[in-house]
Amino acid sequence: MKKIAVLTSGGDSPGMNAAIRAVVRKAIYHDIEVYGVYQGYLGLINDNIEKLELGSVGDMIQRGGTFLYSARCPEFKEKEVRAKAIENLEKRGIEGLVVIGGDGSYRGAQRLSEEAKNLQTIGVPGTIDNDINGTDFTIGFDTALNTIIESVDKIRDTASSHERTFIIEVMGRDAGDLALWSGLAAGAETILIPEVKADIEEIAEKIQQGMDRGKKHSIIVCAEGVMSGNQCGEELKKFINIDTRVSCLGHIQRGGTPSGMDRVLASRLGGYAVELLMQGDSAKAVGIQQNKLTCTHFDEIFQAEHSIDNKMYELAHQLSI
Ligand code: ATP
Repeated sequence: MKKIAVLTSGGDSPGMNAAIRAVVRKAIYHDIEVYGVYQGYLGLINDNIEKLELGSVGDMIQRGGTFLYSARCPEFKEKEVRAKAIENLEKRGIEGLVVIGGDGSYRGAQRLSEEAKNLQTIGVPGTIDNDINGTDFTIGFDTALNTIIESVDKIRDTASSHERTFIIEVMGRDAGDLALWSGLAAGAETILIPEVKADIEEIAEKIQQGMDRGKKHSIIVCAEGVMSGNQCGEELKKFINIDTRVSCLGHIQRGGTPSGMDRVLASRLGGYAVELLMQGDSAKAVGIQQNKLTCTHFDEIFQAEHSIDNKMYELAHQLSI
């Protein structure tokens, strides 16, 4: 392996820069040339590719977002479009590609490894949603979690001063990890996640019982994959007469300086991706499971259903009585 490329794709997440840095530095350490592809798969088809040096990733480990930029590129699902991408890689003699992104990005990488004559691909899980199989944690999840916790702590001050029920809508797409972890960590009274069917009437009863006991305020963390915060408020009003306020945290959750956990995770996974390329692996994604670096074939990742830790959900429920 003499030349590799790296790109970031899908939604950005804090720690992507640290992962790029690890790929670049690890590769150069082993005398491998590294190319950065700007704007994800879009840059790959538009030939927006530049050689990266040690200094290209200097002063980068602490920055949020991705300096290679990210893009959604729906046309990459078409084989003729991917042929252009393969041509751009082949003309530079690039034999390995590290794709940092979510499972949509992994699908693109899998197609490339099938269709190119001489290209190995390795995926690195970069998304705040923590919704990728084959890894306990994705790069960006910990930072987003901390951003949510900080926001909920602040909202709690207002909720208690004004004796109100607050509904906080958090990201996560179809996964409930961000809502579950932040709800547990911030002491939310109710956590709504897509993996567990919500009984709004039961939630309303719980709030009512709390109020009867003299509880003045309540925090509900609602994953965007269940419903919007506003919808949740409307649903609750069918069963209980309370004054709710909704706070949709939005894109604040995707930005910011990566946490220590995310920087370490990104560095370990980025370095491991290069090791796998060097040993001839392809069509696999790196991950961390029980604090050990692992790699899983893309096929296996796509087959498994995302699940949450049911015991943790039960615990959050038990602690919020
Ligand atoms: P996030 O979880 O942050 O949204 P993601 O990687 O899942 O990240 P997607 O928008 O699903 O985000 O995918 C990113 C890009 O990967 C797409 O814009 C497209 O270029 C490519 N891609 C997605 N699905 C496929 C597919 N089936 N075949 C080829 N390329 C794909």
